[in-house]
Amino acid sequence: MKGHKDTIYKTVYQYNQVPVSAADMEKLQELARNCRDVRNSVYERYGGIRGLSKIYPGYTAQNEMTKSRLREQLNLPAVYFYLSIFDALGDIKSQWAYTKKQVEKNIRANPNLSPEDCHYLRFVMKQSQCFASVLAGGEPHLSGIWEERYAAVREKVDIHRLDGYLRRQVRRHLGKSHTDVADGFPASPKGYRYADHGIYLTTKERGKRIFIPLTDNNRYDRQIYIRLYPEERNIRISVPVEVRQRHPEGYEGELGLAMGLKCMFVTDQGRTYGEKYLEYQSALTDYVRERLPRHQKNARNNPGMKKYNAGKIRLERAMHGYVNAEINRMLETEKPEIVYFPKLPPQSKPGFNRRVNATVSMWQKGFIKNRLARKCWERSVELVEVFGKGISTQCSRCGTEGMKEENLFCCPSCGLVLPERQNTAGNVLGRGRALQGAAGSGHSVIQQIKRSGDCKEKGPENGMAKVF
Ligand SMILES: [Zn+2]
Repeated sequence: MKGHKDTIYKTVYQYNQVPVSAADMEKLQELARNCRDVRNSVYERYGGIRGLSKIYPGYTAQNEMTKSRLREQLNLPAVYFYLSIFDALGDIKSQWAYTKKQVEKNIRANPNLSPEDCHYLRFVMKQSQCFASVLAGGEPHLSGIWEERYAAVREKVDIHRLDGYLRRQVRRHLGKSHTDVADGFPASPKGYRYADHGIYLTTKERGKRIFIPLTDNNRYDRQIYIRLYPEERNIRISVPVEVRQRHPEGYEGELGLAMGLKCMFVTDQGRTYGEKYLEYQSALTDYVRERLPRHQKNARNNPGMKKYNAGKIRLERAMHGYVNAEINRMLETEKPEIVYFPKLPPQSKPGFNRRVNATVSMWQKGFIKNRLARKCWERSVELVEVFGKGISTQCSRCGTEGMKEENLFCCPSCGLVLPERQNTAGNVLGRGRALQGAAGSGHSVIQQIKRSGDCKEKGPENGMAKVF
């Protein structure tokens, strides 16, 4: 499986909710036995020294296996048959990679080989067609530039001796695989379907699927492995999932954020982002209040309403663009490994000023939070929500209840004087660190992003939070 360079794979598991019936378990075990037989057939045919030319890229092996009629003999659904072939070919390729490494090591360590000998051997091992031919005991038929190069490297050496040496070396290290175990089988999306709180698996009976209720509702769209525990009448599904590496490109340290209307974010170090947020928000609020047509009947056909909507959308876009740009700027400047931010109150309290109140009610907190969560995820920055009660009235240095004067926080106990929001951000950081230090690792926002539907396309998968 190929992945992005900063992607790693982890396995998540799914389990049956109720014991699998004896009849179904027997059917699953038969699939497992059949898949094992297919694997062994592939090992037998292509696992040896002469199999090399047929395993890359694998079409030859696949076609030959199709012609072998083994699938018909076993009456095995195509999905399981071909997956088992690919898995077995994968094992053989790993064997080859290991073997080549060992042989290269031995070549380097062999005092009886001249530099020209080593050069020849390395050339042969690198040129796959050449390697396959030499191992099969034949003459390589190369073309173009490879033919010339091959002629050049073989000129000064005893190829008879070296080819023999190479074959012996490979035979010594290339173990032929065989397996007696039939404890499970692979399945791809063609062979299963998630629905009804469980999974439907293709069986050998045409059109009939086995249904297994699962303990979770996560759905995946990739190759999975069904491991059987017949004694316990249980199964375990293994799913490889991509996980972004935690801290790419120098993101480090923790960051506490205070969120506000006048300024989107103030950090615990007192840096500010989104200072113009209120301007964008007010422009929108004023527009809504002043331009909303009084008569909203026949809203769709009303030209005034159309004009109004277009204007509103334009202002919303401008605001959203600004929010996105400021979140990007914040993350790229601060480069944090973990961001803590306060849990937002469910609803704003009524304010003293009607206009501010209207603004507050329209403050798209949810939008900012979702964008923040999304952008943190894209950069593999962990975003942790911190419980916010009393977070703005506590001293971030000593924890005493303090006073607020003119946007400043003053601590009567230790004398700390800080901009109010910076003090709040300091408390967010402190509480976040305490959370991380506690048994659990905070409340990951990942689940919330998922729920909000913000990450439908590229976001973390269902159940992703499990592996963090
Ligand atoms: Zn204090």
